[in-house]
Amino acid sequence: MKVHLIRATGYPVENFNHVLNLLRKHRGSIEFVPSEPVTLPESSDFKIYEDSDAFEKKEAPKLDFSMKESRMANYSRITFPHKEKVMTWNQLFQIAKDFRKKNQLPKEDHVILLTDQSNEHNWFGCFDDTLKNYFIQTNHWNYYFGTDLDSRFPIAYEISAWIMRSMMFRSQVDTLNHLHKEPRGCMMDFCAKKPQIILKMRTGDLCNDCMKVLTERDVNRSHARQLFTIMDGLRENLLFRERSLLLMENSKMEIRGLSKRIFLSDLGDLEINLNPKEKALYFLYLNHPEGIMRSHLVDHRAELRSHYAMLSNQASNQSIDLAIDRLIDITDNNMNEVMARIRGKFRLAVGEQQYQVYSIMSSPEGTHKILLNRELVHYLT
Ligand SMILES: [Zn+2]
Repeated sequence: MKVHLIRATGYPVENFNHVLNLLRKHRGSIEFVPSEPVTLPESSDFKIYEDSDAFEKKEAPKLDFSMKESRMANYSRITFPHKEKVMTWNQLFQIAKDFRKKNQLPKEDHVILLTDQSNEHNWFGCFDDTLKNYFIQTNHWNYYFGTDLDSRFPIAYEISAWIMRSMMFRSQVDTLNHLHKEPRGCMMDFCAKKPQIILKMRTGDLCNDCMKVLTERDVNRSHARQLFTIMDGLRENLLFRERSLLLMENSKMEIRGLSKRIFLSDLGDLEINLNPKEKALYFLYLNHPEGIMRSHLVDHRAELRSHYAMLSNQASNQSIDLAIDRLIDITDNNMNEVMARIRGKFRLAVGEQQYQVYSIMSSPEGTHKILLNRELVHYLT
């Protein structure tokens, strides 16, 4: 079974690739296929959310649900009333349909649009009545979860959950009819209050009623197993993150292969994408747990240069020297810029509370160092 993922151009390619990596981590009978990005048409429809309650509420156009209030912390940087452009569900499904037609895809293939455009009913995602054309919303996740939950995880969760639903139900209405009005920590919770999605991610499971549907409708076991495995991985990441704050534990770090890709293996195998210069500086500090004074960086020029030479594939000797000279030049701000970028990438990946352990930070003794316990660092070739 093929699932094509289309990226709308407003959704950063880096995040898209991370979501793809999370989904592809557990190989199986479902194949996730990335495609060329598409540019969405300019929407002329606006929606105004008077307050945060309206913004956090999914609309149920076909169903009459009485919503139970649950007050959860939000990390609003949105001021209300908030006005934004929205696209209709049909417009979003049409993009998947057009893609299907243009690429002459077989009708059993699934096509999922990942879009930073908000939608008319304010849902995280949905599929059309064929159960094969979907959209998943990629914006506003930080509004609900702040920087402590990387939005790539709930997005990967939503993708898995919607594919599972497409196997369980016969139509869009059949699906909507089976949603649970009251949250039970099941994948089929309606989550009228959008922040409730965290509850179902934390259980990563189906309730008994839904398990019965899954059994009765003769769902493909191999596909289902793969989706459960993906959701288990996302759940582990979430739980590790929550517990690690309490237990002061950090994730293992694996550095893999010749290109030395950096993965946080306890955090759902999250990859930290550093460019060659950032990596060269990072590996230097990783090799020096005692820390290095800014003014002593020059003493480590040879080591820094050898990392960079190995990691940057296109550079000539001269350009390597130039790059390294800039990095160690105390009158140049380059080192600070590179360190700030590294911190930013770890902050995005592990959250506000944890990133300082993994990043290169300045220490009270006047050095820069990485605090992470080096017993957690493993080099795999
Ligand atoms: Zn259920």
